[in-house]
Amino acid sequence: MRRPEGEAPARRPADRGFRARTAFLPFSRPTIGQEEIDEVVDSLRSGWITTGPKAERFEREFAAFTGARHALALSSATAGLHIGLIALGLRPGDEVIVPPLTWAATVNMIELLGARPVFVDVHPGTLQIDERQVEAAVGERTVGILPVHFGGAPCDLEALRRVAAAAGLWIFEDAAHGVGTRLGGRHVGTTEKLSVFSFHPIKNMTTIEGGAVASNDEVFIKRLEQLRFHGIDKGSDGNIDVAAWGGKMNLPDVNAAVGLAQLARLDGFNRRRRELVQQYFRRLSPSDVLVLPADGKGHSWHMFCVCIDHAALGKTRAGLLSLFSEHGISVGTHYPAMHLFSLYRQFGYGEGDFPVAEKIGAQTLTLPLFPAMTEADVEHVCATLTAILSGRL
Ligand SMILES: *Cc1c(COP(=O)(O)O)cnc(C)c1O
Repeated sequence: MRRPEGEAPARRPADRGFRARTAFLPFSRPTIGQEEIDEVVDSLRSGWITTGPKAERFEREFAAFTGARHALALSSATAGLHIGLIALGLRPGDEVIVPPLTWAATVNMIELLGARPVFVDVHPGTLQIDERQVEAAVGERTVGILPVHFGGAPCDLEALRRVAAAAGLWIFEDAAHGVGTRLGGRHVGTTEKLSVFSFHPIKNMTTIEGGAVASNDEVFIKRLEQLRFHGIDKGSDGNIDVAAWGGKMNLPDVNAAVGLAQLARLDGFNRRRRELVQQYFRRLSPSDVLVLPADGKGHSWHMFCVCIDHAALGKTRAGLLSLFSEHGISVGTHYPAMHLFSLYRQFGYGEGDFPVAEKIGAQTLTLPLFPAMTEADVEHVCATLTAILSGRL
C-alpha cells in the first residue's frame, strides 16, 4: 500500500519485538486512485469545473445509492445542517435535541440560528442517543430531534420516530458517518423528513470537501435548492427571481468527479472496512480496561472507537496517544463531549450533566481504519495496544 509522502518516519523504541516500520499509520486516509484522477482531469479539460453536469449526475447516483428520492450535493455537511435547519423553520428560541457525542457542526448550526441545543446522553453500549432520555427532554419549545448515526452504526430511529410523532417533532438525521449504513433493510437517511451526509476526506467516501442532503419530499428539496444558491428561483420564462435568502453552498464538478469515482467503489471500501474490523475483533479482547465498540447489522464502520481506562493503567490519555505515536500510529479522539466546550457551557451545561458521554469523551480512542490498510497494519495496532494494556509499554 502507499503511504502519505513527506510524513516524518515514526520514532521507534530500540527493540521491543515490533517489526521495523518506515511510515506513520494515520487513523484515516482517503483512497484515491486512477479512477478519481481520470474523472477530475476529465472535468478540468471539459471547461466546466464548477457545479454542472457531474454534480447533477452525482446527485442522481448518490440518491440511487441510498434509495432517497432526492439528494442535493453541497459544499459540506455543515452547509446541509445550516440550510436544512432553516428549511425546517428553526427559529430563535426553539429547542433541538442532540447527542453530546458528535462533531461540533451538528450543534453549531442550531446555535447559529439562535436556537438552543438540548443535549441528551448516549447509551453506554451503542454510543447512540438514548431514546428514553429523549422523551424526557421534550419541552414546550422543542421542535425537532437531530440524532447522529454514531461511528457508522444506525441509531434507533424507530424509537425516536415514536417520540417525535407523539410530540409533533421533526427528525433531521445527521448521517455524516452513515454512508453505507443500513437499518431495517433500508439505507439510513431515507425515511425521515431530512438527512445530511458528509464527504469530508475522513468519511467513508469523499469529494475532498462536500456533503449532501436527502429527502423524499420534492417541495422541500426545492426549498433547499433555493437556500443552497442565493435564494434564486428560475422561472419557466428563463427569468430569475430572488425570493428568499440563500447562501453559496454548491458542490463544484471537480469535487463531484471525485465523488462519482468514489461512489462506484464505495461498496468495496465498506466491505474492506468490515474485514479489517473483523480482524480487530478477533485480535482484541474486551476487559475491565478495554471496551470494544458494539458490532451490529448495517454498520458502515466509519470508525472503530475503543474506550481505555487509562487511569487504571496509571496513564493519561495524552500518554497513551504518545505511546501509539512512538510506534508510528496515529489514533483519534472522537469525540470530546460537546456540552463541555466553552460555547455550550454558556447554555449552562457542565461536568456531570451527561456522565456517559463525558466518560466516553475522556477515554475514547479511534483506532486506524481505512480501506487501504493492510492486515499487517491492524496487527501492528493490536500488538501495540496489547503491549500497552499488559503494562509492557
Ligand atoms: C464530519 C461531520 C459533520 C460535518 O461534515 P462536513 O462535511 O465536514 O461539514 C457533521 N456531523 C458529524 C457527526 C460529522 O462527523
